[in-house]
Amino acid sequence: MSTVPSPAPPELAGRRQMSGDERFRFACDPSVPCFTRCCADVNVVLTPVDVLRLARRLGLTTTEFLARHALVPITKELQLPVVMLRMGEDEGRRCPFVGEGGCGVYEDRPWSCRMYPVAMALPPARAGFEPRPLYFLLEDGFCRGGEGGRAWSVDEWRRDQGVLGREELESGFRDIVSHPWFIGGRRLDPKRCEIFFTACYDLDRFRAFVFESTFLERFELDAGTVERMREDDEELLRFGFRWLRFALFGEPVLVPRAASRRTA
Ligand code: SF4
Ligand code: SF4
Repeated sequence: MSTVPSPAPPELAGRRQMSGDERFRFACDPSVPCFTRCCADVNVVLTPVDVLRLARRLGLTTTEFLARHALVPITKELQLPVVMLRMGEDEGRRCPFVGEGGCGVYEDRPWSCRMYPVAMALPPARAGFEPRPLYFLLEDGFCRGGEGGRAWSVDEWRRDQGVLGREELESGFRDIVSHPWFIGGRRLDPKRCEIFFTACYDLDRFRAFVFESTFLERFELDAGTVERMREDDEELLRFGFRWLRFALFGEPVLVPRAASRRTA
């Protein structure tokens, strides 16, 4: 497969595209004059890992978190549901988690908050092209972080911000949204969009679907996998991505019991 770079998506047009080893200067701490300016009136896209970690931090189910703190804007252009952090309803539209000391959920802050001032985009799936994340530098006028500090490569920044530790789970999600099934602009029907939303974002509903239905009777799953899914949210999320590859795209990554009996 080719890895020829793709053009920037419209929302990042005009931003400086960066390779993983390209350098930029940045420093951010409570002494900067713009401290927390970036935590208001901003579009923070949430990944499934973000939703799960924020919900657990706040002591909420994922269903409660999504109802209280998320927006799911529906537009004709979107191939899949996108989940965004709901900003406050005050005039400045401040993030509900920001306080005088900065981010109140810092250890579990969303992926895009960690990555700022770097943004990432996934190009649409194209035949013959390996989906490869594109990085861009957000040189926003209000942010003074670029005026000093040390030079970082994108890869060093990802490591410093704790992004690499969750990369395996995040890439499982990216494999879904950039799946070759979408090549040519194919779209999921509303029922499959709902399946995608539940497995990716509403993990507590997905848990009920797996453990409180006939699901486990219908698929060949070893007892160890089932136990790990029962005890570990991230294992369940990992399984959710596997389930989606089966349910949405027909990949043979799960074996229905009837099929396994037929081939036995
Ligand atoms: S330097 Fe940039 S990232 Fe840091 S607080 Fe200021 S606006 Fe936010
Ligand atoms: S989650 Fe934290 S870092 Fe992100 S916008 Fe809110 S306060 Fe700022």
